[in-house]
Amino acid sequence: MFSEILEKEKKFFFNSEKEGEKIIDILEKEEITKDEFIKLLYSNDNLILEKIVLKSKIITDRNFGKTILLFTPLYISNYCVNKCLYCGFSALNKDVKRKKLNLNEIEQEMESLKQKGFDTILILTGDDRKNSDIEYIAGAIKIARKYFSEILIEIYALTYEEYKYLVENGLTGVTIYQETYDKDLYDKLHLSGPKKDFYFRVEAPERAIKAGVKEISIGCLLGLNKNFLFDVYLTAIHADYLQREYPDVEISISYPRIQKAEAKIKIENTVSDRDYVKCITSTRILLQRIGINLTTREKEIFRDNLIGLGITRMSAGSKTTVGGYFINAEDTGQFEISDKRSVEDIIWVIKNKGYRPEFTNWVKI
Ligand code: SF4
Repeated sequence: MFSEILEKEKKFFFNSEKEGEKIIDILEKEEITKDEFIKLLYSNDNLILEKIVLKSKIITDRNFGKTILLFTPLYISNYCVNKCLYCGFSALNKDVKRKKLNLNEIEQEMESLKQKGFDTILILTGDDRKNSDIEYIAGAIKIARKYFSEILIEIYALTYEEYKYLVENGLTGVTIYQETYDKDLYDKLHLSGPKKDFYFRVEAPERAIKAGVKEISIGCLLGLNKNFLFDVYLTAIHADYLQREYPDVEISISYPRIQKAEAKIKIENTVSDRDYVKCITSTRILLQRIGINLTTREKEIFRDNLIGLGITRMSAGSKTTVGGYFINAEDTGQFEISDKRSVEDIIWVIKNKGYRPEFTNWVKI
């Protein structure tokens, strides 16, 4: 389990030399080590960043071809019992209108997304085992099977048996973000609720893999931790560990940056665009075959410029409200979307950049 080596990796990060070896020499290498990755993350020169970006682009084009996979999130419930200080759906937020789609509404939303061309869907709920129990989620997955080849969930951390049950009903992948790998900070940000169990969450990807999912996406929420490079390092090392231990499973990473949402904390630790690009492209140089996802939290022009530099998957036409597509609900979303363009617009941009938008990651058998 990754939790067994987490402390060791934490010490490695803090004790490693952040400077020293010339970055130019590191970039000459075909593959880099984790201490060289740390040096890339800590580099602070614009010319060097250009070289990191160029190398990342070459590796991405070579390993993934000129394609970008499109996916979309579908929020089916926003009931949540957790008190996460950074989230619009937190139980602390008494102003949020709570809503849960019934199976008929879920089908209408899915039909609408299928008509837009999507073949990959990410089903989301808040963390509330009473309002969004496993049977409810299995029901949504069963409907999704009629429309999509790839069905991912981003819900609360489950037991092995629960993941297995969902896999038996058609689940293909799990997205679960640790938010921060700093346990003390994690404790402070999660006031109460099941998500407070740091290790149960860290170990969730492996329980899901053992239960049979083909795809795992992990990530950290940039902006929570003043030392965001620590979280980028730990996320990348976690992905590397999963890829080595479970080579048959597709692993991807996401580094969303925190947005205003209805957060109960003042967002002080903003990560600049420059640092964000450095994190994505340095990760690509370390982990040459993992997927890197980019969400609509990021601004339009910034997303456009990232195409081809390291990312492999983008969300498009996203809504973070429950029933945001067909039913067209206008309630509070989980976070604020920056890129509000339509799927057609995103397709046009990708093509214009010389890349091919893809809707299907694998074909359902
Ligand atoms: S981050 Fe997830 S678990 Fe935490 S409050 Fe938001 S929806 Fe609930």
